[in-house]
Amino acid sequence: MSIASILGYPRIGRSRELKRALEGYWSGRLSSEQLLADTATLKADRWRQQQAAGIQHIPSNDFSLYDHVLDTALTVGAVPARFGWSGAAPELDLMFAMARGSKGEVEVAPLDMTKWFDTNYHYLVPELAADQSFTLASRKPIDEFLEAKALGITTRPVLLGPVTFLRLSKGPAQGGSTLEFLDRLLPVYAELLSELRQAGATWVQIDEPCLSQDVPVEVLEALEHAYQKLGQAAPGLNLLLASYFAGMGGNLATALALPVDAVHLDLVRGASDLDPALQLVPEGMALSLGVVDGHNVWRTDPDRALGQIQRAVAKLGEDRVLVAPSCSLLHVPVSLEAETGLDQELRSWLAFAEEKVAEVCCLARAGHGSPEVEARLAESREACADRRNSPRVTNPAVRARMARVTPDQFARPGDGPGRRLIWRKGVSLSPLPTTTIGSFPQVPELRQARAKLRRGELDQSHYEQLMEAEIRRVVRFQEEIGLDVLVHGEPERNDMVEYFAEQLDGFATTQQGWVQSYGSRCAKPPIVFGDVSRPHPMTVLWAVFAQSLTARPVKGMLTGPVTILQWSFVRDDLERSQTCAQIAMALRDEVADLEAAGINVIQIDEPALREGLPLHRTEQPAYLRWAVDSFRLTAAGAGAHTQIHTHMCYSEFEDIMGAIAELDADVLYIEAARSGMSLLQAFADHGYTNEVGPGVYDIHSPLVPSVEEMVARLRKAASVIPLDQLWANPDCGLKTRGWAEVEPSLRNLVSAARQVAAELTAVSPASS
Ligand code: GLN
Ligand code: ZN
Repeated sequence: MSIASILGYPRIGRSRELKRALEGYWSGRLSSEQLLADTATLKADRWRQQQAAGIQHIPSNDFSLYDHVLDTALTVGAVPARFGWSGAAPELDLMFAMARGSKGEVEVAPLDMTKWFDTNYHYLVPELAADQSFTLASRKPIDEFLEAKALGITTRPVLLGPVTFLRLSKGPAQGGSTLEFLDRLLPVYAELLSELRQAGATWVQIDEPCLSQDVPVEVLEALEHAYQKLGQAAPGLNLLLASYFAGMGGNLATALALPVDAVHLDLVRGASDLDPALQLVPEGMALSLGVVDGHNVWRTDPDRALGQIQRAVAKLGEDRVLVAPSCSLLHVPVSLEAETGLDQELRSWLAFAEEKVAEVCCLARAGHGSPEVEARLAESREACADRRNSPRVTNPAVRARMARVTPDQFARPGDGPGRRLIWRKGVSLSPLPTTTIGSFPQVPELRQARAKLRRGELDQSHYEQLMEAEIRRVVRFQEEIGLDVLVHGEPERNDMVEYFAEQLDGFATTQQGWVQSYGSRCAKPPIVFGDVSRPHPMTVLWAVFAQSLTARPVKGMLTGPVTILQWSFVRDDLERSQTCAQIAMALRDEVADLEAAGINVIQIDEPALREGLPLHRTEQPAYLRWAVDSFRLTAAGAGAHTQIHTHMCYSEFEDIMGAIAELDADVLYIEAARSGMSLLQAFADHGYTNEVGPGVYDIHSPLVPSVEEMVARLRKAASVIPLDQLWANPDCGLKTRGWAEVEPSLRNLVSAARQVAAELTAVSPASS
């Protein structure tokens, strides 16, 4: 039999126990002892469950109280000076201060957070000082190994590899590579491996997902150098080197030449790695085959997976083959068991983490005469065939409509400056118009109302009355403080993607399908299982109600097709680009309905456009092409008298400016407060002629921004972007903030915009 293994497991628990424990601790309701006791139970349950299922290489140290990259920084003692760390074993509160900032006498900013490769998981970015030294500061990997050992389970500890760790870290100065720290860092890894060996570990998994990226030759050399050292660090300890999220392609030869005992291949995204790997694998090295999709929720087709396994077994023999998911199961929900709301058929097509563990065990044991295993494989085979042939996945009307799409459906009438003139004739705006990004505080009463509606404790009409009351309050407030373009505040939306997914055909939503986003924050991505269409308008009634309350323009609010795609589990039986185009077409209908109902500003948010960029550079142009086209297909039905706005956050735009300009949105709101407006230069350099709303109010901070600081930001913005192309707005939605901060912040924002507009129009009255 091949060896059943997994690379990592969800941390949050079946009922998000981790979230509850963490938030309990942060609010002071739980002591640190209770937090650690609760999470010890959680860890023990995961290990026991994997053991009972038959996993032979069970991971440890894949659990984290916040984030595994932060854990790694603590393990090697990379703590920035501002946290005042003494060098002693890091305490819980040091870790949480690095993750979330701390508000003592002086406020200490947390580490930056950014996306983990192309997933929706965020990690904390380690910071390295010029004189950075490293020590084995936290013993978490060893402690967790011993914790499992005490339960009678010998685990395979998981470490983030030194090269990827350095590549994900921020160095002290511009220029220079963080890889320069490698020689200082390696002794700590060597010490750690040797301690793990002494504690009884026989295998350690080291993750170097940078092997799945296009990396310069220095990185490959760094890997060779690092593993020459680490391969000898602990005699008797076997190292498994893992890379995932894409094939290794050209890096494969380097990976297989490293002095390690096994290499993991992502055979879902990188199936073409298998043949060259079987050619190149040296005598004695094992291969870990990532045949179960760790990044998506579909049940594995056993024939495809077994085909790959059998090829490897034929060459290597069973004891040199590990069967595994393609990547850690961190990125899928925990268990299908709670999903009683999904119909039987759809459920039979899916596998969450628990089910994927069972799949791995079955695949590893296939062909050894176990009737139970063979029966399960037969069941999977049948479910996959059922899904392939089901009339639910293909909607002929959608296919026919998509086939009829013509090039003119992607182009808006005229150009940005021309449309601006037409639109502004119909509305009166301040010289430097102000607006918000859409959502207003999601106060607990709104969430409670939704929960009651779901449980049947509140009827629909009562619920709608509550939402209308909230919209009235939000509209009245915006009028009172003098914002130019208003929003309804999105009180009816649980989430900017799920809200649409619940109303679109081809999508399913789950009850408990939570996936960790960062720390205690989880998201519940919807599942696209079939062709997408819109049976009825989704946002029109709310927008029309809000518009009926005011003479100022109210924006219709949509989540864009790329973001809906990016933040969902997407079907694997159709190109992503085609699913995206179907979503775009459904949203295009919504744009038409909003326009027909008298809404003349429609905002189509695309916060996830940038993060969808593929890891391999060669695949990026094609992605940008279809992503931009999907946005344009959504928007282009709107006439010249309608403004299309869009919003993006967390984006490094410089390298995709061309694509941004091609969206041809009339107004683009971008996050800029934290980068000190430096991003705007890219727009100026590009000769961008449409309008831009740089966020001047950083909504990620609970602080109320002063008029002066926003004036300074607007002046800076106005020095690069002409006044008639400039808007003033926060840098994201306000749903996570409270009214106590939002009220004064927005008042200050309006004052700042008026002040800067007055200054600039006084200098050059012609430009207003
Ligand atoms: N319109 C959404 C909001 O205001 C946009 C959220 C986002 O960019 N993530 O909440
Ligand atoms: Zn945003």
